[in-house]
Amino acid sequence: MKVRAQNTAIYVTQPQLPPLAEFIPYLEQIWANKTLTNCGPFHQQLEQALCEYLGVKHLALFANGTLALVTALQCLRITGEVITTPYSFVATAHSLLWNGIKPVFVDIDPHSLNLDPDRIEAAITPQTTAIMPVHCYGQSCDVARIQKIADSYGLKVIYDAAHAFGVHCHGGSVLNHGDLSVLSFHATKVFNTFEGGAIVCADAKTKQHIDHLKNFGFVDEVTVIAPGINGKMSEINAAFGVLQLKGIDKALDKRRCIDARYRAALQGVTGIRCLDYGTGSKPNHSYFPILVGSEYPLERDALYEKLKDNGFHGRRYFYPLISEFPMYRGLASAAPANLPVATRVAREVICLPIYPDLAWEQVDAIADLIAHPKVP
Ligand SMILES: *Cc1c(COP(=O)(O)O)cnc(C)c1O
Repeated sequence: MKVRAQNTAIYVTQPQLPPLAEFIPYLEQIWANKTLTNCGPFHQQLEQALCEYLGVKHLALFANGTLALVTALQCLRITGEVITTPYSFVATAHSLLWNGIKPVFVDIDPHSLNLDPDRIEAAITPQTTAIMPVHCYGQSCDVARIQKIADSYGLKVIYDAAHAFGVHCHGGSVLNHGDLSVLSFHATKVFNTFEGGAIVCADAKTKQHIDHLKNFGFVDEVTVIAPGINGKMSEINAAFGVLQLKGIDKALDKRRCIDARYRAALQGVTGIRCLDYGTGSKPNHSYFPILVGSEYPLERDALYEKLKDNGFHGRRYFYPLISEFPMYRGLASAAPANLPVATRVAREVICLPIYPDLAWEQVDAIADLIAHPKVP
């Protein structure tokens, strides 16, 4: 039984790939013009296409989302302390340490699982210079309230929008909120360029500064204005992105249908909670998290193992919390008593498989296993 399950293992995500033959002409073009990187034609084309698709003014491509986060903080000259969420991928807080900034963890809202705006002000000190929230699972943060707090204390806002490709709120792109938003195009994300990322910004001057910072700080052949990093996206990745973007609407649509099918099947299952997306927002269904509460007959880990034994590899994402890793757990704000909601959710969450090629039968089988736990 287990052997068969391994052969047919379904993982939490599977990257979306167009037919290989469709990518060959792009490679031929790169070989013909011999521009491999440094803002070549595909790089420019993808930046333009993404601005149009996402509905944003300016976007600078990066080799990955983490370098984009590190550069976003450098671009705004953020120092001292930054308020952020423990309930995210570790790169969120790592980008702060790379800039010599102290992360200050604030608990999450139990409904959205995003940074709780009610708890931000209490964490502000004279050293605080910015807030770095995450649109967790593509669920938009309370951008209006976060901006209001930032404005009244003179703080910058940098959104880790790694999950928020194509997400809308208040009738426009969620990426237009805050000072900067950072995307990831890693293979596991909704839109991927194998590895990749981007910073979204509102004005041409900032975009130009970011372009300098991602190229070692060079502004011309002989002038370096800052200790910039090498964060450039290559032409191969950019070309793949241009091709990938053609199928994105179809991919998002399939994700929406899988989400709806899980939701319908799990509705009314005692002890299982699915995330609610607020009305008026357009989510991207990048993840399908469920919270396994105490009324459910199995513990979270038992359900996780049960799914795995049947060939369905969910992911305990996010678990452990960032604040539990050794480089963070000594911080006062990392104490579990300061983060009761995040601590509970990290123990209850499983992200179920969701990706465009997932078969309906698999969705039904997963939902069925959850809805009918045969308690030993
Ligand atoms: C994926 C991810 C990142 C890092 O992006 P990379 O492109 O893998 O470097 C950062 N933050 C969050 C929330 C992520 O999910």
